[in-house]
Amino acid sequence: MLRLPPFQYVRPGTLHEAVGILASEGGKAVLMAGGTDLLPRMKHRVAALEVVVAIRALRELRGIWGDPRQGLVIGAASTLAEVCSHPAIRQGYEVLSLAAAQVATPQIRNMGTIGGNLCLDTRCSYYDMPYTWRKAMGFCLKKNGDTCLVAPGSTRCWAVSSSDLAPVLMALDGRVRLVGPRGERVVPVEELYRDDGIRYLNKEPAEILTEVLLPPLDGWKAAYWKVRRRGSFDFPVLSLAVAVRQDEGGHIADARLILGAVRSSPLRVREAEEALRGEKLEPGIMEVVCELASRAARPVENTDFTVLWRKRMVKVFLRRALGTFA
Ligand SMILES: Cc1cc2nc3c(=O)[nH]c(=O)nc-3n(C[C@H](O)[C@H](O)[C@H](O)COP(=O)(O)OP(=O)(O)OC[C@H]3O[C@@H](n4cnc5c(N)ncnc54)[C@H](O)[C@@H]3O)c2cc1C
Ligand code: SF4
Repeated sequence: MLRLPPFQYVRPGTLHEAVGILASEGGKAVLMAGGTDLLPRMKHRVAALEVVVAIRALRELRGIWGDPRQGLVIGAASTLAEVCSHPAIRQGYEVLSLAAAQVATPQIRNMGTIGGNLCLDTRCSYYDMPYTWRKAMGFCLKKNGDTCLVAPGSTRCWAVSSSDLAPVLMALDGRVRLVGPRGERVVPVEELYRDDGIRYLNKEPAEILTEVLLPPLDGWKAAYWKVRRRGSFDFPVLSLAVAVRQDEGGHIADARLILGAVRSSPLRVREAEEALRGEKLEPGIMEVVCELASRAARPVENTDFTVLWRKRMVKVFLRRALGTFA
């Protein structure tokens, strides 16, 4: 059995207090919401931290308000189960509810939060392993070592962004509110990420993601497709979130197309979005768009399934996703 290392558990009473603790402890402290990603990493000794700051019960991070006409605010500590079942999300932003329902298992969705999902660590077959396995194999760049075992000549880490909700929230044009020692800021979900397996978040360590903000739907429709080995529960090895706005004649007025699990951050394929604009969803244009998206996806050999198969599946699943709007 894998055991947790010793750590100090702190439960701040307010958001302000939580920010203060993170700022004063420096790199020794980490946030924990549901703990479904963090605690396994601590057991694997990839997250070696002395202070765990529990934020799931903070009042400032809880609750879901609004509707599809005005836009929605989702507190970062809302659980995935709450996101799945909330009436305003089910009716107006159904794609988000369906994507949340595909994360892990019911038990994990009862604990795991939307904020934790967006800040999920990147994944790699050489990294998501117990300490003894990694030691026997040779440590890698992301933790304890100085070489990337997937791409030994590389100076960067290629671990994969595996959040199910990040691509969907990007397709819905979502933003996040971050609160830190220097105040607060609101940034598009897309800007939260960096294509770097180690420093995958564009935020300071003491900044807390407090809210997810969704704009009014305003005619947008969206779809999410996820490829994984086990249909019951598994991380994505490829995911696609597509949102379109069509005019009355069925032409695409605007589109957003995001691929997940193909690099260290979600990948927005702007060339494919551009190709869709002004077009009807007919076989010819769908082929062009699928080709552009497949070309943009450059997965590496560090998750389940082969790289070639994952790349080929971009076309197959994008065709299915676009087919839902035809
Ligand atoms: C068996 C298993 C299967 C899984 N399958 C999937 C899957 O299919 N798809 C998927 O997307 N995920 C999956 N997960 C990962 C995880 O359970 C979910 O992503 C979950 O939503 C994480 O939320 P949490 O609240 O538990 O995060 P935590 O574990 O509490 O935190 C995760 C990370 O985010 C940081 N963090 C948490 N909240 C905040 C915040 N408000 N502000 C700033 N930083 C924060 C933490 O410091 C930590 O680094 C799986 C996990 C397990 C164990
Ligand atoms: S991509 Fe390379 S450096 Fe990153 S976790 Fe995997 S083996 Fe380690």
